[in-house]
Amino acid sequence: MKRDADGDWPVLVNGSADAIAGGTGAGDGAPHALVVGGGLAGISSALILAERGWRVTLAEARPRLGGRATSYQRGELTVDNGQHVFLRCCTAYRGLLERLDAGPSSGLSVLQDRLDIPLRAPDGATARLKRTGAPAPLHLAGSLLGYGLLPLRDRSKLGRAALALRFTDPADPAVDAQSFGAFMRKRGQSQRAVNRLWSVISTATLNIDPDAASLALAVKVFRTGLLEDSTGSDLGYAAVPLGEIHDTRARAALTKQGVDIRDATKVLSLDAELNVRLRARDESELTLRPDAVVLAVPHDVAAALLPAQVPKPFAELGHSPIMNVHVRYDRPVLDGPFLAGVDSPAQWIFDRTGPTGLPGAGHYVAVTVSAADALIDKPVAELRSLFENELARLLPAARDAKVEDFFVTREKQATFRQASGSAALRPGPVTPVPGLYLAGAWTATGWPDTMESAVRSGISAARAAQEQWVTAHPSGTGARV
Ligand SMILES: Cc1cc2nc3c(=O)[nH]c(=O)nc-3n(C[C@H](O)[C@H](O)[C@H](O)COP(=O)(O)OP(=O)(O)OC[C@H]3O[C@@H](n4cnc5c(N)ncnc54)[C@H](O)[C@@H]3O)c2cc1C
Repeated sequence: MKRDADGDWPVLVNGSADAIAGGTGAGDGAPHALVVGGGLAGISSALILAERGWRVTLAEARPRLGGRATSYQRGELTVDNGQHVFLRCCTAYRGLLERLDAGPSSGLSVLQDRLDIPLRAPDGATARLKRTGAPAPLHLAGSLLGYGLLPLRDRSKLGRAALALRFTDPADPAVDAQSFGAFMRKRGQSQRAVNRLWSVISTATLNIDPDAASLALAVKVFRTGLLEDSTGSDLGYAAVPLGEIHDTRARAALTKQGVDIRDATKVLSLDAELNVRLRARDESELTLRPDAVVLAVPHDVAAALLPAQVPKPFAELGHSPIMNVHVRYDRPVLDGPFLAGVDSPAQWIFDRTGPTGLPGAGHYVAVTVSAADALIDKPVAELRSLFENELARLLPAARDAKVEDFFVTREKQATFRQASGSAALRPGPVTPVPGLYLAGAWTATGWPDTMESAVRSGISAARAAQEQWVTAHPSGTGARV
């Protein structure tokens, strides 16, 4: 095990992880941190601070932890609010999974040995994005040269665009000012190549149309995931409902670490002296005065809660929606764990039969629609007709199958709007108010609004709190260095 170059979180090396150092709970006189928000950013911050010897209170407005990566009950089904995937390059999130005993060896999550994505278009054309053991970027050469969803003249130009992405700096503000779609067209990519290859990845990871997407974030995804390390894009996902990991397991780990979890507890206000007013589950109100506050809430909530001294350019980040369409059939319709739909609103189709508790496989699919602006407000009946038809076009076995249940989960504020120019709006963890820190997937992690970004942001905020506390209290009054 080695430590992440830019954080305290354990980074997996060769699939193994050892325990995080420390972690025996807070001693007398330990500083008190209030972490606001029990999503992945807040969970990560709270765990690390507690492991570093802080007394930690975690306040979460909802009754469950996990934030935007969560599950709920619908009759006999336990349903995720939206299908979530991660990549092997998501070292911080994978570190959290291991910390929660939910890594691939636990059976609670899956990580491919090698990237392998089947793709299909409604006209029946197929392709497979598959890596070999060759070093990057040659590991994808065979897949791209044989990419059956594009004609030869498009395929012959893919390498040039991939190289251009590899040598573009995602940290350069001038890069963030450009759109991914425009950059790809300038590198000779046809609209068909953008639709049938590049946007299959960029829309799923950035949740925005390629023509509006920040080039910097797209470069981050393609470089870190696909072009720099041959293993980076191996795909992972939860094998159980997300809530079992991000709520049940996280709650157990936090409790073991001595974190005081106050769920169904909403922070109402916060001032520059760190007086925090909360409304508890029983509607009673209380005020806490911790030594540090990590505000790990969505950016619009942070903008409303933060005192006037904190600049709030991030209030302009906006939101992009993700919709999931859930279809339960009377028979298996999917012959693998997932399929990417190309030139179709059914962008990613996942078999979620097992995690929902249903027997068998392939009967219940969750279809992800990212950048769902055009569909998110459509009535269920209209969506049902569209997606039943679309799934029948993509999945031959669905044509004769009977639909037993159909429902939709809509997340209008799934991510911030990851448009050109957004990097300048994302703040770091430190604010001008002493003891007040920011976390959340929307903060300046350099990553898109993902589980990886959330965990990284939580680590950064905890580390900043720890460093500033130690600097202000050199004789040591609790927290371990
Ligand atoms: C449908 C969908 C699909 C997605 N797919 C993927 C994917 O495939 N891969 C991926 O990596 N990411 C995906 N994401 C994004 C990912 O879920 C988020 O980036 C990540 O979960 C954000 O975590 P967070 O902790 O920063 O914020 P959040 O999860 O938003 O957590 C913030 C928490 O703060 C709480 N809160 C708000 N106000 C208050 C208050 N006043 N007091 C107390 N608590 C408060 C909220 O209830 C919430 O629990 C997806 C998101 C959605 C919605």
